[in-house]
Amino acid sequence: MGAAPNSWFNDPGFFDTKDARTIIESLILPAYDSDFVWSSWVPVKVNVFGWRSSLDRIPCKLGLAKRNIIPDPFCQSCNSMEEDANHILLNCQFARRIWSALSIWCKLPVFAATNVSDLLKVPNLWPLSPEKKKVIYAIFLSTLWCLWKAWNDRNFNNLFKTDRDILGDIKSLSFLWIKTRAKMINLKWRQWCNFLF
Ligand SMILES: [Zn+2]
Repeated sequence: MGAAPNSWFNDPGFFDTKDARTIIESLILPAYDSDFVWSSWVPVKVNVFGWRSSLDRIPCKLGLAKRNIIPDPFCQSCNSMEEDANHILLNCQFARRIWSALSIWCKLPVFAATNVSDLLKVPNLWPLSPEKKKVIYAIFLSTLWCLWKAWNDRNFNNLFKTDRDILGDIKSLSFLWIKTRAKMINLKWRQWCNFLF
């Protein structure tokens, strides 16, 4: 009997796309001392952003002011607090409203976190199934990503999205990513919008 047409897939000299992704991801995420937990249910760029924001290593005014690149470290939105990663993504009124709306959508218990690192530990503290914890963690990472995009649009492109639009972006992107990456092929949009699954 001849070799199966696809036998080269099993050749140890080749590796599949999943192996390739794992290697690429390990190269992209530097080995900083961080307790950031990788999520395979959102894209690499979203993980990298979550990791950087948990270390307060995203470009913001406080960092630039400390280097004397700009004189004023205050938030452009509220103009009352210094602008660091935790302020942009959690503590500014703009971000607080989105997290509040997200909590209602996902029917989450009341939670409080003042920094991104603590925020990302919250889903693991709730008495939920491991799968639901992973879903909520992936949604949290998606939310950080969408908040950052909206913040940049607001400050650099003069594009002001409404809270409803930003929540819509979070719902649709996380639906797309989780449905395909978590292989929840039967997940329906209406289910997702009501957070019933
Ligand atoms: Zn602010």
